[in-house]
Amino acid sequence: LPYQPAADRYHQMKYRRCGHSGLILPEISLGLWHNFGHNADFTLGRSILRRAFDLGICHFDLANNYGPPFGSAEENFGRMLNKDFSNLRDELIISSKAGWDMWPGPYGNNGSKKYLVASCDQSLKRMGLDYVDIFYHHRPDPDTPLEETMGALDLLVRQGKALYVGVSQYSVEETAKANAILESLGTPLLIHQPRYSMIDRWVENGLMDLLGKKGVGSIAFSPLEQGLLTDKYLKGIPADSRAAKDGRYLKAEQISEEKINMISKLNDIAIGRGQTLAQMAIAWLLKDQRITSVLVGVSKPEQLDDNVAAVKNSVFSAEEVKTIRGILGA
Ligand code: NDP
Repeated sequence: LPYQPAADRYHQMKYRRCGHSGLILPEISLGLWHNFGHNADFTLGRSILRRAFDLGICHFDLANNYGPPFGSAEENFGRMLNKDFSNLRDELIISSKAGWDMWPGPYGNNGSKKYLVASCDQSLKRMGLDYVDIFYHHRPDPDTPLEETMGALDLLVRQGKALYVGVSQYSVEETAKANAILESLGTPLLIHQPRYSMIDRWVENGLMDLLGKKGVGSIAFSPLEQGLLTDKYLKGIPADSRAAKDGRYLKAEQISEEKINMISKLNDIAIGRGQTLAQMAIAWLLKDQRITSVLVGVSKPEQLDDNVAAVKNSVFSAEEVKTIRGILGA
């Protein structure tokens, strides 16, 4: 059946301005790192995208190497766009990135202009797009002058291949430098995509302050620590979980008894707030207004229903903050 998006799709989601820019993003966005490669079920992926859009999630995040194999998430996403979203392009914010290993030889990795421009062209072809809304440098490259990497992002905007640019995994110092270079080129840094969760709070040591001061937005990746910050691992490792199915990034041995104890305490607090742990973990990031969006992944549409309800309550009392910080060991 042709996809008919929900008429009320913009009613339950909340939206935030991205830094000092004109762009507004949903408080929750969807990433296609997992569950969209050629190893995944196409029909299931398609139903995840539809559900996301029905829930007001109008931002989809990709990268050249998402799969496996590399490129296949963009390829499948392109097919899904073509089937279901062909007349909805102007309601979507689509991002891609380059910066990690992508193709053999010296031009398929890191931060050169040669790599970034070629990779963006490839991503556009795979997705069947004329432009991406946001193009990121995926990680810092200490061996390429930052002027060259930022110059490549600026060039992509001037060529009309990207509307906005961002950086990911950049330290505070690298971000400050990148921001200054981009400002001098006349293409402002729109957004930073850092890893940020209740468990990994490095951004609280200077990055959020810098982004707030400079008017740069932010989108937090792996906010659920790949599923750890949900109630799914409390009673062992379910067979259909990331830790059981895909040992590359979340390894079963990382799920220690100590972690489970902590997660179980957090789960009790979430229940007390009338939320699931997944919702509380997302809300914990959204309580900072300098966070523009929280970038989740999901393996089933139902997980989106759970996660999206986080926007209903992202306020924490001083008492709750104190108790939670105590549990997190901060
Ligand atoms: P999350 O921390 O949100 O983990 C997602 C996984 O958690 C899901 O695949 C699912 O795993 C599980 N999950 C999600 N919601 C629920 C729920 N409600 N209940 C139970 N389990 C749930 O994020 P990811 O690590 O997937 O990263 C999100 C996105 O961030 C990526 O897709 C990508 O776009 C971006 N990213 C960017 C990086 C960068 O360097 N810039 C690096 C990594 C990610 P399961 O299979 O167990 O069901």
